[in-house]
Amino acid sequence: MRSRRTGAMLGCAMFVLAGCANQPPKREEAVAPKPETKNPLLAEWTGPFGGVPPFGTFQVQDIQPALEEGMALELAEVDRIAKNPEAASFENTIAALERTGKPLDRASAVYGIYTSTMNDDDVKAIETAMSPRLAAFNDQIVQNSQLFARIATLYEARDRLGLPPEQQRLLWLDYTRFVRSGAKLDEPAKKRLSALNQQLASLYAKFRQNLLAEESSQMVVLETEADLEGLPPALRDAAAAAAASHGRPGKWAIVNTRSSVDPFLTLSTRRDLREKVWRMFVMRGDNGDAHDNKATVTEILKLRAERAKLLGYPTHAHWRLENTMAKTPERAEELMEAVWKPAVARVHEEVADMQALADKERAGIRIAPWDYHFYAEKVRKAKYAIDDAEVKPFLQLEKLREGMFWVAGELFGLRFDPITGGSVPVYHPDVRVFRVSDAQGKHVGLWYFDPYARVGKRSGAWMNSYRPQSRLDREVPVIVSNNANFVKGKPGEPILISWDDARTLFHEFGHALHGLNSNVTYPSLSGTAVPRDYVEFPSQLLEHWLSTRQVLDRFAVNVRTGQPMPPELVQKIEKAQTFNQGYITVEYLASAMVDMKLHLAGATPIDPAQFERETLARLGMPEQIVMRHRTPQFAHVFGGDGYSAGYYSYLWSDTISADAWEAFLETGGPYDKAVAKRLHDDVFSVGNTIDPAEAYRKFRGRDPGIAALMRKRGFPVPAAAASASDRKASP
Ligand SMILES: [Zn+2]
Repeated sequence: MRSRRTGAMLGCAMFVLAGCANQPPKREEAVAPKPETKNPLLAEWTGPFGGVPPFGTFQVQDIQPALEEGMALELAEVDRIAKNPEAASFENTIAALERTGKPLDRASAVYGIYTSTMNDDDVKAIETAMSPRLAAFNDQIVQNSQLFARIATLYEARDRLGLPPEQQRLLWLDYTRFVRSGAKLDEPAKKRLSALNQQLASLYAKFRQNLLAEESSQMVVLETEADLEGLPPALRDAAAAAAASHGRPGKWAIVNTRSSVDPFLTLSTRRDLREKVWRMFVMRGDNGDAHDNKATVTEILKLRAERAKLLGYPTHAHWRLENTMAKTPERAEELMEAVWKPAVARVHEEVADMQALADKERAGIRIAPWDYHFYAEKVRKAKYAIDDAEVKPFLQLEKLREGMFWVAGELFGLRFDPITGGSVPVYHPDVRVFRVSDAQGKHVGLWYFDPYARVGKRSGAWMNSYRPQSRLDREVPVIVSNNANFVKGKPGEPILISWDDARTLFHEFGHALHGLNSNVTYPSLSGTAVPRDYVEFPSQLLEHWLSTRQVLDRFAVNVRTGQPMPPELVQKIEKAQTFNQGYITVEYLASAMVDMKLHLAGATPIDPAQFERETLARLGMPEQIVMRHRTPQFAHVFGGDGYSAGYYSYLWSDTISADAWEAFLETGGPYDKAVAKRLHDDVFSVGNTIDPAEAYRKFRGRDPGIAALMRKRGFPVPAAAASASDRKASP
């Protein structure tokens, strides 16, 4: 049984799914006897490398019964542990729990792969049926009071048990997970908690549906050619297609989604239409009509506050942050406040640059929110003069993949070899499998690569853990995948990608390496199973190696000439990295700070519009920017519990990754062997066996400071931060 079965879908699109498949434990008495099952998805994985997912041996129709049967099997296993007549021990309770649910883990791994990459109508129907079932299943386990009593007994006695650190941490995590889910409550309180959870689930669904209704129905129709001024042909075509699909053939439409709105705001020269489109977008969920989300937000906040109190926490924010790296809302706020002022100062500079440009053009305007993207783009072109078409010929997908492998070799001694000949089956012919081994040639794991877009595959890029590393009863080698949506070229023709896509490729590979380097005993502590505000650190860190000289010289070579990317171009790209960081940071931070403050308000009834207005006024929000996600449309926070009181996590992880990168720069550079070894030993290999703050301190010799983040974003380093971290600026 592993707490992450709910499947964390993280903002960067990393996708952690259950997928653990140990061999049958040797300690048979600790688990249920195994009834024979005919479902191929529940069976042990067979084949090479400790067994591989059984693609080709099952039908999609097998998935749902496999999940149902897997849940029943696991409940029986858990019940057996709960009812064990022997006194509770770490082995017969905590370790035994780690051994449960293997058939369900195997079925869930395939379910996750199909829902994310092979999602046709059949799979959609399974998903609709199973999502609520899987959520309720988790509750069934944490509400088992006999089981909790055993865990609590062990937890109370933890100081006398003489457990090694990894076991202590696992016991603490299990105990807090149960307590945080209400295991300590009496029956009436448990009933109330369950009612609150159900009411909240309905409100989240209502919030998402309202938002979706406005995003999918509202649009600004462009009536004539004159309304298209400034839009390139590709955007005009997209707008024409959007209009046609919304029953307005022959016209053009900007629909109410970010991917449609942002390019229009960047390129349209029609200021009146930019304002119209901007207003439509920022008012989503806030139009005082049937789809208005404000009352729903008020209700969600009220119920969350009650739930937190019931569970024994001062506020929802305190409940959410307890098992994160930040640990308390105060520490998260401290970081956000430290970055806020310099970011706002940078916005004022950015606006001044844009105003100067507008004045030079005699535009006769004062920069307004609907001008920001438009003038920022003009400044970008004037200041940095980077043309995507100039960069792309150097960025070949397969060369960069080789570059990533090379980096993994330099940092961690890993080697990647393609597996050919079909000895490892795949779910789609586009998927390739690589065998990963260590410097001594010992097998480490498998890396599946699914790079191309296709119908039924979700958008974006992500990492998926099919089977985490563990060694509870035997060595279980890890299986992970990286997924992307590149357009497949003609056979033999290199695929060229953008700089942003190349960075994303390295990012997701960072998650994969976090899984591949795992070296722990218990599956639920393995690899990427770390707190939400820490999980993006390894991946964000790995992005940095893309722009190292070594990678660019060898792997960013021109598709026609084979020449490496010229240094001037690299410099231009690097310089452009800090461009518009004021805007990016402030629109993000405003959302993150409002999120945290809303969830620190406790039982006070909240009027979201008023709260947002007053909070931003107090913060000194620049008038040219709105929150990236205003409260009535903040799906991260109100479409579920996921990122509630947790939107700060992105900044938290980025702070650590910037700080960690400087550990290399301060010594022998990006490939310094000693720093790489510490990175492996204290970060990439330890999973969740150690408090992340402690792990980081071991790696860095101190806590992370904000100075590196400020340098990365091109902000001045506050004097206090500079002296605290005592470091020179990065090159
Ligand atoms: Zn990520």
